[in-house]
Amino acid sequence: MESIQVMGVAGLPLIREGDNIAEMICGRVEMLDGDIVCVASTIWSKAKGFTRPLSSFIPSPRAEVLGQLNGEDPRFVQAVLEASEEIIMETPFILSALAFGHIGVRAGVDQSNIEDGMVIFLPPHPMASAEELRDDIRRISGRDVGTIITDTCGRSFRRGQTGNAIGWSGFTAIRDFRGDKDLFGHVLKITEEAVVDEIAGFSNFVMGESNNGVPAVVFRNCPKWEGHDNLYFSREEDITRRSLEALRR
Ligand code: GDP
Ligand code: MN
Ligand code: MN
Repeated sequence: MESIQVMGVAGLPLIREGDNIAEMICGRVEMLDGDIVCVASTIWSKAKGFTRPLSSFIPSPRAEVLGQLNGEDPRFVQAVLEASEEIIMETPFILSALAFGHIGVRAGVDQSNIEDGMVIFLPPHPMASAEELRDDIRRISGRDVGTIITDTCGRSFRRGQTGNAIGWSGFTAIRDFRGDKDLFGHVLKITEEAVVDEIAGFSNFVMGESNNGVPAVVFRNCPKWEGHDNLYFSREEDITRRSLEALRR
């Protein structure tokens, strides 16, 4: 089995609106067919202008109440409310569903790694973003790579954040083991491996969270997999979401 190689992309500048992320990465790493390129949503959003001054948000009465309740700036709460399709939990922090299917704390709105007084939103169509990044890399380098847009997310049941995939292109999100036989010939009935999240998780480890300045990571020699793209539970399947919503009634 060939060793998997993991390369943080060093030397990228602070990203500004209008920057071409694919060009900047291809200028620093020579791509090979089959590589997987992970990019932090933070820089994708900065490049595409999904950022706004905090001062431009006018808090609604609900934002004022939640700001008080959660000890947060009501303008920031307003930004979170505007980024959310549906609020699942209001306190001790806002947990919301985004239009593209992701459920996240504070709707993934960030105030770190950007100038004071600015907020960064998750890209609203991260699947399209991953595809755009992949197409750009193909055009620039002639190489057929896979891409993942990542974000650092909290999770239930365990302390600590990990990287998650919010958009991907070039492979399926899930590696489906159902129907496979284990070492003893038992047929697997349940196992669907969320490969894009595993790769996003390791890329997040290489990126770091603070002042590393490594917002992109390239994986080489990963094995291929097959499966499907239904990463997000439907509302009916999602027991955790249903339970949290029941608590609010
Ligand atoms: P998120 O996980 O997408 O919310 O992004 P983070 O704020 O955690 O940043 C991930 C990595 O990218 C960290 O190593 C940051 O230092 C780095 N980073 C964030 N913004 C920039 C930027 O504009 N330029 C560079 N070179 N690195 C950045
Ligand atoms: Mn983030
Ligand atoms: Mn992060």
